[in-house]
Amino acid sequence: MIAEVIVNSTANELDKTFDYNIPEGLNVELGMRVLVPFANRKVFEVGYVVGLKETSEFRCKSIVKIVDQIFDDERLNLAQWISKKYFCNLAESIRLLVPPGTSTNLNRVKEKTEKVVHLNLDADFSKIKSEKQKKVIDFLIDNISAPKVVLKELTDASDAIIKTLEKNGYIRLTDEIVFRNPFACKDISCSSKLKLTEEQEKVIKNIALNKFEKYLIHGVTGSGKTEIYLQLIEDVLKSGKSAVVLVPEISLTPQITDRFLARFGKIVAILHSGLSVGERYDEWHKINSGEAKIVIGARSAIFAPIKNVGIIIIDEEHDSSYKSDNLVKYDAKEVAERIAYVNNVPIIFGSATPSINTYYNALNGNTKLLTLEKRISKSGLPNIEIIDMRDELATGNKTVFSRKLYRAMKDAISKKEQIMLFLNRRGYSTFIMCRDCGHVVKCEECDVSMTYHSEENKLICHYCGKTKEVMNVCPMCTSKNIRYFGTGTQKIEAEIKKYFPEASVIRMDVDTTRVKNGHEKIINKFRDEKIDILLGTQMIAKGHDFSNVTLVGILAADSSMNIGDYRANEKTYQLLTQMAGRAGRGEKKGTAIVQTYMPDEFCIQCVKKQDFTEFYKNEINVREKLNYPPFYDIIVSVISGSDEEKVKNEAMALYQLFAENFTPYSPVPAPISKISNEYRWRILIKDNLGDEKIELLRETIKKYRKIQNAELKVTIDVNPNNML
Ligand code: ADP
Ligand code: ZN
Ligand code: ZN
Repeated sequence: MIAEVIVNSTANELDKTFDYNIPEGLNVELGMRVLVPFANRKVFEVGYVVGLKETSEFRCKSIVKIVDQIFDDERLNLAQWISKKYFCNLAESIRLLVPPGTSTNLNRVKEKTEKVVHLNLDADFSKIKSEKQKKVIDFLIDNISAPKVVLKELTDASDAIIKTLEKNGYIRLTDEIVFRNPFACKDISCSSKLKLTEEQEKVIKNIALNKFEKYLIHGVTGSGKTEIYLQLIEDVLKSGKSAVVLVPEISLTPQITDRFLARFGKIVAILHSGLSVGERYDEWHKINSGEAKIVIGARSAIFAPIKNVGIIIIDEEHDSSYKSDNLVKYDAKEVAERIAYVNNVPIIFGSATPSINTYYNALNGNTKLLTLEKRISKSGLPNIEIIDMRDELATGNKTVFSRKLYRAMKDAISKKEQIMLFLNRRGYSTFIMCRDCGHVVKCEECDVSMTYHSEENKLICHYCGKTKEVMNVCPMCTSKNIRYFGTGTQKIEAEIKKYFPEASVIRMDVDTTRVKNGHEKIINKFRDEKIDILLGTQMIAKGHDFSNVTLVGILAADSSMNIGDYRANEKTYQLLTQMAGRAGRGEKKGTAIVQTYMPDEFCIQCVKKQDFTEFYKNEINVREKLNYPPFYDIIVSVISGSDEEKVKNEAMALYQLFAENFTPYSPVPAPISKISNEYRWRILIKDNLGDEKIELLRETIKKYRKIQNAELKVTIDVNPNNML
């Protein structure tokens, strides 16, 4: 027999199968990881068996060793589908599917083991004289075996005693796997099924569990979507199947995982980037062995080896974190849809602010639309007020708090109600400019302005992390008229302390959440210690449910409007609505105050009216007029490298190739033209990528890879998150 093997390498020229003999007695099967001799290399290479056949036209070397079974047919097909769909090598897509810690080499994470002591039942214990030894044996006669630490604790036995007993054949020690439990430190109470409201009931009735179908649950914030997910999953489990739930960057929303743990307990596995590799490895194996029946995780959890999937749920489906910007630029929503389709099971998208694309699908019959219009809590949706910051300036208010927000905050603090303040910029000042010559201090390696951080007292580049010393004179013209402009979360924190000295405040942004479980610690502190104000970047907008928050302040609604992206309106609408939705989730009515310099923008107006449908109608017209998704796909190719001239030439070469079959825009420097000393050029194509076009695109890329300058990096991304 011959095995077709993909070598674990991302080199383009190795993106094909190689034939290997299967030696007598080696039980090689599809989906196995094996060691093979390769080229003239001194060490064996890791390979994946992706096909088996009787004969080969080549003279083949032999497989030397089986490492393990990594995937089955279905997952191999998925890897193949991914590599086609996202223009990557098969080895790259396979890496998405293998256990954590094993992707690049064989140094897989060790299972965590502990010593367990067992009684040798056929030994003659009557010969034991020592009281201390007898105590151990008596304990083991009752318990047969016990972890060594437990045994020592309960019998006061020393290591020496245990060793003697082992030497004399009375007991035996083994290493046994213990699962690291990422929620060991949590105390979660149990919850049972709630009686559904009429609206919820109707949604559940409309979902068929036994066939492939796409559903969108469009339910306002706090309308009971999560309870629907829980009950759907309960039904799925009853039929013996399992469930996958994707949530945005899960470490940000411990509250949602807690609800699943409370309802389903041990059969829940959680996968996210906040876990250590060891913890992820354990969770992966809990899923692979079938012990876990529910997987909750951020985007990459879609690759978990779940068996017999019965439903896939994508919560907060509008969230941009489902699309990967890494090596394989996959969209977890598309991968999920593929898995649901192959398994013939339903896929549920849920959101209070659906993405324009998903909503378009729902209105055009490709996805079933189910709606929840009411909040569960009696207080209903929050009031949303828009404040025109130009008026504030005109009346002499130069602070970051409008008069209305200031009064509302004072009021809430005095009533011991909590406040969330949102600002989408971290750091202290967001740029540094010379008033005389207009010079803006930039990171030389990244071509973006540097941000002043007061805690470190340094200028920091948010792209590469490089720092610079604070400066008081302009590096260009040596004028002393250099000023710090713009407001970040650190500055707001200082302002809060100045204007609300009576209030306690906690800040949540990239800078305060670097430690393990950093988000959770801040969230818990805010909730449990009743801190008056939680101040943060978009991290605080997602999924949190605090019943005592009655006031939400959005300090600068415009910051997401000027991001140079065709989705600016969509993102602003989502962010503001989600953020406002954090107010008034308990008994008391909530208020959201939105500060802006563009109060008349239709997207801000729709936020105020809480009218998604109107927003959608307006936005979809714009998209259609300008040939944007969902009508057209946007294909972005970025060419980068340290030699600007080479980058430019390469961009031209790629452009020529694209132009044979498509209508690309001429190559231009990317909006951020340099990151970490790599120059970046961009080619943009708008086209409708049906099956044929996608094949054509794939062919073009293949052709290009053959002539590609290996010094440069070229990425191809369809409908990327980031147009910069
Ligand atoms: P969403 O996911 O739409 O934001 P949740 O499922 O979190 O909404 O529900 C909001 C709140 O209402 C939660 O505290 C939840 O426990 C509660 N809730 C949901 N469904 C019901 C129900 N049928 N009866 C009583 N309370 C409910
Ligand atoms: Zn200057
Ligand atoms: Zn930089």
